[in-house]
Amino acid sequence: MPAEAYILDGYVDEPTCLGVPPYISPYIRTVAGVLIGHEFSVRYLTIDQLRKDQHVITVLDRADLVVMIAGVTVPGKYLGGKPATLTEIQQIGHMVRGPKKLIGGPIGFGYAKEGGQRAIRQVISGFDALLAGEPAVAIDNYLNGNEPVGMLDYSRTDTWSGIGSGIIVQHPDYPYVMCELETARGCSHGATGGCSFCTEPFYGMPKYRSIEGIANEVAALYAHGARHFRVGRQPDILAYGAGIGEYPAPRPDLLEDLFASIRTAAPALKTLHIDNTNPATIARHEHESREALRAIIRYHTPGDVAAFGMETADPDVVAANNLKAQPEEVFRAIAIVNEEGGKRRDNVPELLPGLNFVCGLAGETEMTYALNEQFLNRVLKAGLTVRRVNIRQVMPFEGTPAYMNNTLGKHERRFRQFKEYVRSTIDLPMLRRVYPIGTVLHDVHIEVSGNLSFGRQMGSYPILVGIPLKLEKRSTIEAVVVDWGMRSVTALPVPVEINTLSATAIKWLPGIGKHKVAAVIAKRPFKTLKDYQNIAGNSMLDPLLKF
Ligand code: SF4
Repeated sequence: MPAEAYILDGYVDEPTCLGVPPYISPYIRTVAGVLIGHEFSVRYLTIDQLRKDQHVITVLDRADLVVMIAGVTVPGKYLGGKPATLTEIQQIGHMVRGPKKLIGGPIGFGYAKEGGQRAIRQVISGFDALLAGEPAVAIDNYLNGNEPVGMLDYSRTDTWSGIGSGIIVQHPDYPYVMCELETARGCSHGATGGCSFCTEPFYGMPKYRSIEGIANEVAALYAHGARHFRVGRQPDILAYGAGIGEYPAPRPDLLEDLFASIRTAAPALKTLHIDNTNPATIARHEHESREALRAIIRYHTPGDVAAFGMETADPDVVAANNLKAQPEEVFRAIAIVNEEGGKRRDNVPELLPGLNFVCGLAGETEMTYALNEQFLNRVLKAGLTVRRVNIRQVMPFEGTPAYMNNTLGKHERRFRQFKEYVRSTIDLPMLRRVYPIGTVLHDVHIEVSGNLSFGRQMGSYPILVGIPLKLEKRSTIEAVVVDWGMRSVTALPVPVEINTLSATAIKWLPGIGKHKVAAVIAKRPFKTLKDYQNIAGNSMLDPLLKF
């Protein structure tokens, strides 16, 4: 019998890596590869599975080795899972007594409960060792009898990512698993110290993974049933393979090769999206960036988002925190991505920018918030679209300038007002532009079941879809948009079964509302569209109704 190792996924969220379900981080796959290489039989469990069933502790107790991956350095709100807290991590460490227990991932940088609090670096009690640096390399070193410390080395991790790719079939959401793909680590803006709050400069100047290494991993994942990929593990996808300098010009030829190779390795993939994109790269190298964006759009799937770390629209805060882009550069980058990616395919725009704001940075004043609002208003009035605006408070980590120098707690009221302003004044009109009523969303995967069920498409920052019906968790539907919330849409399953639809769902149909629900129910069953239109009138949903 081979020795048994468990990978316990406490989930990760970093500026350049997401591993909260349905995402599975590269760490899990490379660690699995190392363990298989050391002849362990490898099992995978998530922190949510453990929360639901405490029996899992007994299962872990009987294993030979437990490796936990955890840590959140950019706090978010999640639908698919809840990252492990420090208390939970330490409880697991103390309750599981049998095997050797190792822990790795961004938890090594420190821990805070939420944004707006300092992340404190601390000893994680209950574990035998912290895997310092790159978890896969550290664990390989440890299993070879050396210190559990590792520097990223793509020549080693590329091999392990292929060997460990089969771990995805054990994910509770499989086959609806989004494989976060790594293309680079480290940030060129780190040449001048990097943005004051960011942990990515800890990884040093960029190291790029080879196209061959990425494509081989995609092929291995695909062979195990992976169909959803996000090229998200890098600070700036447009800088892939670019030369030296703080803001190197994109290499469209390399991006063309990269995305074409992914498509060749996974011919029937269903999702291929991107994530972080540096607006300064686009503004400073417009021609190369347009070519690079076109290359991505040729191979990706629509509904994609280029996330811009804008952080603030206050030039003084940009300067005080060595941020990467001035507001004018971000505005120009928004316009360029709209021009290149605004066309619709499969009912949604190809590629839109998303904006991230970070509040509580050094130099912030009440005026900063007014400038943020004015900036977003200008984007809206210019007819430009952003897919989503993410606002958070900084979580300063030891070793970053923001740890000692920030304005947390100084403008709480204004921070809340800014959030409220964006939700009510910016988000709604943007959602109306991206998802007009009648938009059919393909493959909405139900993640929360109830009288109001919630689902999302697989993708980068997918829109939250509320469906006023009890739907089975993990089922997949086509859904048509009938209304908008602040940060979500309301939708009904397609075809719309008008003769059996519940009253709570009928009221969302265009032309019905609360007043005509009783009339529709009284006249059911309708035999023809004409019969129905006599009560409800015509609507753009008519072709989607079923009688
Ligand atoms: S540009 Fe700034 S925020 Fe982005 S990865 Fe580099 S240091 Fe971090």
